[in-house]
Amino acid sequence: MVPVVFECQQCGECCSIMGQVLAICGHPDAGKYILSNQYTGEKTIVEVDPDKIGLYEDRSTISRFPEACPFLRFNREDGKAYCTVHKTRPDMCRDFGCWRILILKPDGLRAGRVMCRSHFCPDDPDLARLWEERIRPIDDPGGAEWDQAVIAILTGAGYNVRI
Ligand code: SF4
Ligand code: SF4
Repeated sequence: MVPVVFECQQCGECCSIMGQVLAICGHPDAGKYILSNQYTGEKTIVEVDPDKIGLYEDRSTISRFPEACPFLRFNREDGKAYCTVHKTRPDMCRDFGCWRILILKPDGLRAGRVMCRSHFCPDDPDLARLWEERIRPIDDPGGAEWDQAVIAILTGAGYNVRI
């Protein structure tokens, strides 16, 4: 098992509801905004990344995801989600990692994630079946031994596992 750093898949799920938390409360300068955390009151001055100005000006993400962070944009060309203020994003965004264990198919596509201690979030029906049959019955979900057993089962079944 080789630990690797968190690698965002740019699915946009996390930021697509962050409009409930982060709101623009000021616009001090061209391209600069004050982003306020509605819960903590923390304010961050963010600036649209120079290479993402065109993407930021495309408002189609906002109509598709009305609860999204005001700086989330989906790129029409590659379908991926981008933070258009990535370089100056708030600390809470820098610290965020949406999974504890990432499960990838051999072709690199996401098959599922383990979030928090042992919450399983599948993207692939084969993995969902494997999980119910062989992993769900294992005792002490989220413990160190559970992690090792889960990773052994997943890698034995041909998945790539990242923690
Ligand atoms: S942090 Fe996770 S949920 Fe958010 S975009 Fe990246 S992979 Fe998706
Ligand atoms: S500032 Fe960027 S990383 Fe943070 S919630 Fe908004 S789009 Fe996501």
